[in-house]
Amino acid sequence: MSQKFSSLAEEGRLRTEWAEMHMPVLRLIRERFEKEKPLKGVKIGACLHVTTETANLMKTLVAGGAEVALCASNPLSTKDDVVAHLVEHEKMKVYARYGESREEYYEHIDKVLDIGPNITLDDGADLISTIHAKRQDLIANIYGGVEETTTGVIRLRNMAEKGVLKYPIIAANDAATKHHFDNRHGTGQKTLDGIMRATNILIAGKIFVVCGYGWCGRGVAMRAHGMGANVVVIEVDPIKALEAVMDGFRVMPIAEAARLGDIFVTVTGNKWAINREHIATMKDGAILANNGHFDVEIDVVRLKEMALSQRRIRQHVVEYTLPSGNRIYLLAEGRLVGQTAAEAHPAEIMDMSFAIQALAAEYLLKEHGSLENKVYLIPQEVDHSIARLKLKSMGIEMDELTEEQKEYLSSWTVGT
Ligand code: SAH
Repeated sequence: MSQKFSSLAEEGRLRTEWAEMHMPVLRLIRERFEKEKPLKGVKIGACLHVTTETANLMKTLVAGGAEVALCASNPLSTKDDVVAHLVEHEKMKVYARYGESREEYYEHIDKVLDIGPNITLDDGADLISTIHAKRQDLIANIYGGVEETTTGVIRLRNMAEKGVLKYPIIAANDAATKHHFDNRHGTGQKTLDGIMRATNILIAGKIFVVCGYGWCGRGVAMRAHGMGANVVVIEVDPIKALEAVMDGFRVMPIAEAARLGDIFVTVTGNKWAINREHIATMKDGAILANNGHFDVEIDVVRLKEMALSQRRIRQHVVEYTLPSGNRIYLLAEGRLVGQTAAEAHPAEIMDMSFAIQALAAEYLLKEHGSLENKVYLIPQEVDHSIARLKLKSMGIEMDELTEEQKEYLSSWTVGT
């Protein structure tokens, strides 16, 4: 290995160790896995953001006896030092490179699939959909898969409903210890972090438009508000829109907000939340960022078509000048701004998300043969055990129901 690769690997080792210090729940699982080897001989193919946190998940699976191969779930979220560390020090199969082309991205997915996985771990369902589309020969050896994110779970539920899903899936995303924390607090913090690192602009006093008020949107709106922004929420679901209003935010259609906003963030999980017509009416200097789904939430293709000229003005900021003379600034090419311009979710958050991944892999193995080709939730006792361990690691004690209280809650005869 070259000296440059070795020093990159060393940097990756240190940063992975730093993350590990902040992942106490995953550490406990790893310690148990080391003793019990519940994944002995199991091949696990993973397509996740290649970060220091993911490195710790991979090490946990290996500690449990698994053979792993990893590729990226997003071409811009890969940390090359982490790849170097896992390849050089841990001798793992990792196929990822920051800024890889679309072609390489799919080549890397194929390389992971070449190990013939028994379990797939996905963030956005790209492994699973590639297997279903082109590599059905692998299905006979697959026990099941785990899906990390909302977008992937939606894709997989659609597959299950249409009867085309060929193996059981655990929706890690749908566990409470995932979406209440990862989607809300993780996305909230790192989206702001990404925007600030990319632009170094002041958030206070800005009109900050959040498209989508799901778990991610709630987190982004809450943090932007906390930094002094004037937050506007865009929603299509009446309950969520009402919730945003009562949380203290202005709610209006995007066509109206487009004219007002200084900063726009899309976290809808859908395509074209910001389209050509919206962009055409934006103010000079408007900043567009995405932190949801793939790179389709902002219609980047139309933005490029509309622009008379474009130039990269900072590492993660491209300026597009429209025929009107107005300049629009797109961050991180319309891909996840927090993963690209910042470092994705903090380790304390991924601690829980990846505890679910590790326990879900163990569960799939244990239940092999008894699950149908459906999308399952992780059992509630597992979800609760993760929350308990997290609280314990934070030194927080909670309360317990007394016997009388339990009885009261389970009775129906006692009225006023
Ligand atoms: N796969 C899609 C969208 C999903 S990104 C894409 O890349 O475009 C959102 C997911 O990233 C979340 O479910 C979260 O669990 C995961 N994530 C966030 N921070 C991470 C980190 N530090 N390491 C690994 N995965 C992370």
